[in-house]
Amino acid sequence: MKSPCEESSILDGKALAQRIRSELRARISEGVESGLPVPGLATVLVGEDPASSIYVRHKIRACEEVGIRSFHKTLPADAGQATLLETIQILNQDDAVHGILVQLPLPKEGYSEAEILEAILPSKDVDGFHPLSLGALFQGRPGMIPCTPKGILRLVDETEMDLTGKRAVVLGRSNIVGKPVAQLLLARHATVVMCHSRTRDLEAEVQAADLLVAAVGVPELVQEDWIAKGAVVIDVGINRREDGTLVGDVAFEGASKKASWITPVPGGVGPMTIAMLLENTLEAGWGDSAD
Ligand code: NAD
Repeated sequence: MKSPCEESSILDGKALAQRIRSELRARISEGVESGLPVPGLATVLVGEDPASSIYVRHKIRACEEVGIRSFHKTLPADAGQATLLETIQILNQDDAVHGILVQLPLPKEGYSEAEILEAILPSKDVDGFHPLSLGALFQGRPGMIPCTPKGILRLVDETEMDLTGKRAVVLGRSNIVGKPVAQLLLARHATVVMCHSRTRDLEAEVQAADLLVAAVGVPELVQEDWIAKGAVVIDVGINRREDGTLVGDVAFEGASKKASWITPVPGGVGPMTIAMLLENTLEAGWGDSAD
């Protein structure tokens, strides 16, 4: 760990993700040469939401880069729950497909997200959103760990912070970020405080944090004077300003004067999410041989 009086260091998620992707590429090439199956990821996109289309394209490109075979299905927005369930069943039974990712959010009308996520075989649940995956995480048992929370922990590990007994404050309690992150931090023996839109005196909670994970989706909610000197700050938020630029949930410039380590937006947590998806796909494909 750095001393708190030093200038803050940037936790470069883009560089770390690139390193992980290079390592995955080497492992996959070696493993496939020695007879392990080519890992396969199926992405399913329902509708034509532009942001979702871009995310899926990035995921497919990342797969190609590391040697994961991708299978892509696009369904029209009005395909409906039954057709989507049928698509998932076909992918569940396809031995070349080791991971299945249904891009969220689904169109507002005609789908039950919970039922769709539950239909994916837990062994192919590379997003880690199946109730069994989340239950395993809750109980500290092996299972798929959701990509963004897994990437956040990797970034924290880069700082060499020993989480034991530290106060970790998580802003946001969503099923895909806040709650699973809190479980991962608990498993590392941190004292975890979860804050959300109804938390009283958010500023005071944040001021007590050795580690702050902000995942609320409110541009620059967390101000410089909220951050304790020397805290580690992980900014998960991705918010688009009117001029099209991206900004996190933390006011970066001020916060970086106080934090010992801080992630930028963009280039922090975002790239780690895709790297962890690739890693989860490899684990799904190779099981223990991926260790
Ligand atoms: P969500 O909307 O599902 O949940 C937001 C949470 O923030 C809720 O629990 C809510 O109670 C809390 N919240 C909202 N306003 C608040 C306030 N003023 N004070 C305190 N808490 C407040 O969001 P999510 O899906 O968890 O995503 C959160 C942010 O992280 C978004 O900006 C999203 O784009 C981003 N995100 C980034 C990645 C990535 O790969 N980097 C992945 C997922 C989400």
